[in-house]
Amino acid sequence: MASSEMARHLKRENIRSLTMSGHVGFESLPDQLVNRSIQQGFCFNILCVGETGTGKSTLIDTLFNTNFEDYESSHFCPNVKLKAQTYELQESNVQLKLTIVTTVGFGDQINKEESYQPIVDYIDDQFEAYFQEELKIKRSPFTYHDSHIHVCLYFISPTGHSLKTLDLLTMKNLDSKVSIIPVIAKADTVSKTELQKFKIKLMSELVSNGLQIYQFPMDDDTIAKVNAAMNGQLPFAAVGSMDEVKVGNEMVKAGQYPWGVVQVENENHCGFVKLQEMLICTNTEDLREQTHTRHYELYRRCKLEEMGFTDVGPENKLVKSYRPNLSTLRDFTKKRE
Ligand code: GDP
Repeated sequence: MASSEMARHLKRENIRSLTMSGHVGFESLPDQLVNRSIQQGFCFNILCVGETGTGKSTLIDTLFNTNFEDYESSHFCPNVKLKAQTYELQESNVQLKLTIVTTVGFGDQINKEESYQPIVDYIDDQFEAYFQEELKIKRSPFTYHDSHIHVCLYFISPTGHSLKTLDLLTMKNLDSKVSIIPVIAKADTVSKTELQKFKIKLMSELVSNGLQIYQFPMDDDTIAKVNAAMNGQLPFAAVGSMDEVKVGNEMVKAGQYPWGVVQVENENHCGFVKLQEMLICTNTEDLREQTHTRHYELYRRCKLEEMGFTDVGPENKLVKSYRPNLSTLRDFTKKRE
């Protein structure tokens, strides 16, 4: 909670603030949390959705500055599949279990009407696995591997025109299940002025189609300013490349073309650094939190309502019928067996 919000909260609750005469020690609470988190390690799951060849694997390699195993996919998959790979990464003493889930064959079929379905199913399967774990009498919250998708990087082809029906349809079916960050892929293939126009067009199309994309949070004073500025820069124009080119005395990650060099980490050349900062340095924890408090909650609520459960309202009155729908419950139990 941001400090100003905390002050307001304290005032509202009329909590007594006591003056203590000596050191007690609870000021170390944040350190205890940090130490425990470092010991447990972190987990982050990214879903990359985009047509074959839009640069998904290259961008992920560039974001984490490592070569993940990857196999080039052909354009001949009969349907869309998802490929998940988990890696253990370490930066100083922080360990990260990173899962990259990528679409294979997305956009390659003649009939693309159902292309979003395997992606929706994959996300729901992860929610369902957690839901089942929650329902167990003996739960193992500490050993349970969190496989929820925390963010979806949606790769938009750099056509300079508008969103394709496939993109609109897919994002529409995903936006209530996952936080979407749209990314203009291979942004070096569009000119600077065209890119600006393309960004404005994409954003207005997203708005007019009622699509919800992830907004960097502004409730924490320390990052509110930068997050607000970044919300205005969406979608990020990304360039990925693991190739190194000598610029001045330095070797930098860049794409080399007959007419010049595009430096991946140069903010005048593309939005890679902004994406990396927002995704990995500033808002990772918020993305994880949103997954649990917003997207999983919605899944859980629908699931419980489907089973016939409702909440108890004020004065202990039932909001709807409290009695679970027994036939749904029976089907559900059978499925679990
Ligand atoms: P994926 O199928 O979406 O995973 O795409 P890949 O990452 O395999 O990239 C497909 C091709 O595009 C490769 O030849 C990459 O070198 C190239 N590529 C990837 N990212 C970029 C980029 O940002 N700009 C340009 N010009 N080419 C890129």
